[in-house]
Amino acid sequence: QINKRLSKVSEYINHNKLADIGSDHAYLPIFAIQNKLVKEAIAGEVVKGPFLAAQQNTKANGLSNVIDVKLGNGLEVIDETVDVITICGMGGPLIAQILDDGKDKLSHYPDLILQSNIHALPIRQNLQQLGYKIMDEILVKEKKHIYEIIVAKKGEMTLSAKEMKFGPVFLKHKDDLFIEKWEREIVALENITKQLEDHQDQSRNNEIKQQIVQIKEVLA
Ligand code: SAM
Repeated sequence: QINKRLSKVSEYINHNKLADIGSDHAYLPIFAIQNKLVKEAIAGEVVKGPFLAAQQNTKANGLSNVIDVKLGNGLEVIDETVDVITICGMGGPLIAQILDDGKDKLSHYPDLILQSNIHALPIRQNLQQLGYKIMDEILVKEKKHIYEIIVAKKGEMTLSAKEMKFGPVFLKHKDDLFIEKWEREIVALENITKQLEDHQDQSRNNEIKQQIVQIKEVLA
C-alpha cells in the first residue's frame, strides 16, 4: 500500500505508459500497474541504491516484464511512447531543473504530474516556457507536512507573478490547506525578520516584510 501523498498523485494517472522519475523503491509504478492505471511503466533513478531497491521491489512483485527499471539522470530514461511522467518527493527547483534539462524528451508532450515538497514557483515558470498548461493543483497533508501536486498538459498559459507564486488553481479556491500552508509560511518569515532585526540587515528585512504583506493580502 502506498502513502497518502503518492495515492493522491495516482488519482491523476489513467494512461498507457508511465515514467516515474526519481522512483526510489518504484512504489508508484508498482501501484499504478497493480491497479490498472497504466499498462507499462519506466522507473527512473539516478542513484544506484534506490535503483537497486526499485529493481528488487519490481521483481518481488513479479512485474519485471511491465516495469522497466532504468539507471539514469532525469528524463533521459524515457522514450516517446511514455504518455505520463510523474516526478514526486523532491523540491520544486530540482523538479523544474529535471524538466528543463530533459525538455527534448517532452517534444510529444506527455502529461505531467509533479509533486513538490517545497517551492513550486520554478516548476510553474518552466511549465509555461515549455508549452504546458496547469490543469489542476492539489494539496495533501500527511504527517503534518503539506505537499503540492501540479497536473499539467500540453497547452498555453500566461500566469501573473501572483499565480506563479501561489498557483492559478490554488488561488481560485483558497481552501483550508492552502490557508494553513501560507499561514505557516508567514510564521516562518516572521521568525526570519526577527533574526534579521538583530543583525540589522535592513534591505533583506524589508524584502521579507513585503512578502509577508503579499501573503496576508492573498489570505485576506
Ligand atoms: N518519488 C519517490 C516518492 O515520492 O516517494 C521518491 C522520492 S525521493 C525523496 C527522491 C528520489 O529522486 C531519490 O531516490 C533520488 O535518488 C532521486 N533523484 C534525484 N534527482 C534525480 C534525477 N535527476 N534523476 C533521477 N532521479 C533523481
